[in-house]
Amino acid sequence: MKRKQLEMMLERLEGFSRPSFQREQYATPACVAAEMLFLAGMRGELGSVCDLGCGTGVLAIGAALLGARAIGVEIDGDALAIARRNAEKLNVDVDFIRADVRTLALKGIDTVVMNPPFGAQKASAGDRAFLCIAQKIAKTIYSLHNQGSEAFMRSFMKPCTVQEIYRIPFPLKRCFEFHSQDVKVIEVELYRITCMDARL
Ligand code: SAH
Repeated sequence: MKRKQLEMMLERLEGFSRPSFQREQYATPACVAAEMLFLAGMRGELGSVCDLGCGTGVLAIGAALLGARAIGVEIDGDALAIARRNAEKLNVDVDFIRADVRTLALKGIDTVVMNPPFGAQKASAGDRAFLCIAQKIAKTIYSLHNQGSEAFMRSFMKPCTVQEIYRIPFPLKRCFEFHSQDVKVIEVELYRITCMDARL
C-alpha cells in the first residue's frame, strides 16, 4: 500500500464525537498517522504494535492496515466504541482494550505507537506515564510530542535511546470551543526511541 492510499483510508475514520478537554483528546490527523506508520513499516517494525491511548483508533487501525497485529488501549469507553466502528468500517482486526495505561500488564510488543496526552490536564495520565509504560512493554517507540521536547526526552527515556526526531506539520482542527481558527498548523516532534539495551 502506498502512503497516500493509507492516508486517504484513515481520512475516512470517524473522529471524537465530544472530545474531552480533561483527557486531552486530540485525534492524530491522517497525514501524520500515515507518516509515522510508514516510517515504522520501512524499518520492519510493524510486527506486533500497541497504540497507547488509542482514542478513535487511527494509529492502531493504520498499523493493522499495514499488516501489524495491533492492540489499542484506551480509558474512555465512548472513544473505544468509535474505534471499534472505525476498525469495522475498514475491515481490519484490532484488539481494543479498555484500560488505564498505568495498569497495563502487556509484554513482548515490538512497537508502541502513540500520541500521548501532554499532561496539561489532571484527568489524563500525561506523557511521562505513557513513556514509562511504553519503555516497559516495547522494543521500539514512536511518540508525538510538542516542539522543544528533545532535552527532556533524551534524559527521561534513559536507558532507552532517542534514535531519530522528525519535525512534522500537524494540522490542528478546531475541536474545542476556545479554539478560534478552524485549522491551525503547528509543528510537532515525532520521536523514534529504541529500548534494546534496556532489556539485555
Ligand atoms: N491516539 C489517538 C488519541 C490521542 S489523544 C489518536 O492518535 O488519535 C490521547 C488519548 O489518550 C485520549 O483518547 C485519552 O482518552 C487517552 N488517555 C488519557 N489518559 C489515559 C490513560 N490513563 N489510560 C488510557 N488512555 C488514556
